[in-house]
Amino acid sequence: MSLDPTLRNIRGTFDILPQAAASEGAHEVPSCAWQHVEQVIREVLERFNFREIRTPILEPTPLIARGVGQLTDIVAKEMFAFRRGETDYVLRPELTAPVMRAYLQHRLDQQGSVQKLYYLGPCFRAENPQKGRYRQFHQFGVEVIGAETPEADAEVIAAMMAVYEAFGLRKLRLRLNALGDADTRPRYKAALQAYLEPYAEQLSAISRKRLETNPLRILDTKDARERRLLENAPRILDFLSPSARAHYEAVKAHLQELGIAFVEDPFLVRGLDYYTHTTFELESPDLGAQSALAGGGRYDLLAQELGHEAAVPAIGFAAGIERLLIALQAQHYAFPEDPGLDVFLVALGQNAARWSLCQAQQLRREGLRVDLDLKGRSMKAQMREANRQQARYAVIVGEEELLRKQARVRDMRTGQQHDVAFDELSDFLKGTVVRLT
Ligand code: AMP
Repeated sequence: MSLDPTLRNIRGTFDILPQAAASEGAHEVPSCAWQHVEQVIREVLERFNFREIRTPILEPTPLIARGVGQLTDIVAKEMFAFRRGETDYVLRPELTAPVMRAYLQHRLDQQGSVQKLYYLGPCFRAENPQKGRYRQFHQFGVEVIGAETPEADAEVIAAMMAVYEAFGLRKLRLRLNALGDADTRPRYKAALQAYLEPYAEQLSAISRKRLETNPLRILDTKDARERRLLENAPRILDFLSPSARAHYEAVKAHLQELGIAFVEDPFLVRGLDYYTHTTFELESPDLGAQSALAGGGRYDLLAQELGHEAAVPAIGFAAGIERLLIALQAQHYAFPEDPGLDVFLVALGQNAARWSLCQAQQLRREGLRVDLDLKGRSMKAQMREANRQQARYAVIVGEEELLRKQARVRDMRTGQQHDVAFDELSDFLKGTVVRLT
């Protein structure tokens, strides 16, 4: 088979196929395993009473520019954005800003003073593709909007951990930090700038630029020399107000009570001013360079950034499904087997083909998984197909069977064959399929 090379899928995107795949441009995990993973995620989050929100993939660019932040890599370099007519569109790179948009736009505060929302769907970032980093990828996550208590923070982190626990993932590392309230960051920013300025010459070009615009971003540098420089830098925890400190201490106490292990990491920051208080990231050693499974934090000032008159307390996490799949594969997770077909109808001749088409419909209505030949193949080829599809039964019908109103039913596991009257066929198949599975 061949395809015009210019029509292949875009680098950094992939097809999810019914079978496990190794070909370029296909995700190696089959669609039934994706479905399983999505179902487990939904079940866990729904147990926490998170309700699903679905927002458009297409959003107005200014929402993302303001909601994610002009200074972030996402907005500065990674948006798939375009203009049509008078409107600037972007393929959403994340869902926190869209969910907050929907919350404000639809006055969800009137539906209950705390909204617990979850989402699951594709996101788009124009990144350099590599393992665990794609241009179209899938995120799930939650947002708790309207609650400012440390219990809300603990609930979000507990929900995130519960998802990974449901898959039995081990060796995960939860890093935790606090960014304080509205006045913490400017004071800390100034202190960090003052500390780093004498070393400006030793910083990389990019960090030197960030020193002026967004010095907090320097804290997550991977450069060993810069990391050494930062060892004695001021710590944001020392800048927390008494109430912010109390919030942080309460979150930590709740995590301990919940038996959720964490490490404190003063270098874990988010560059944007609307992030407040708790911030966290979950890592897995199985992910290599792209070690983050999920991350999140409190963003009490985002609503105001989007033009709302008052602050709306909110906290959430976002997680990558592809990274979860990598971690699951590394830990040899047993994905459920494809359930396979109950029945494959083998028809010989036109009349039998017509009968099969109707019989398939009837059996499906009764809840069985049924398929049939669509190519007018020989009996041998049809039996081979029944085998390939791992059908539990082959139901074989030709002219003679039509006359006798009896089908030949072959048990594909044992090879045993029975003649079954047409009007007993569905009871026979349903009875045995239910009994045997
Ligand atoms: P972020 O919004 O950047 O904090 O991302 C949240 C999570 O989404 C990360 O922890 C990753 O698991 C996942 N993620 C982010 N960007 C990508 C990407 N380009 N490809 C795959 N997963 C990603």
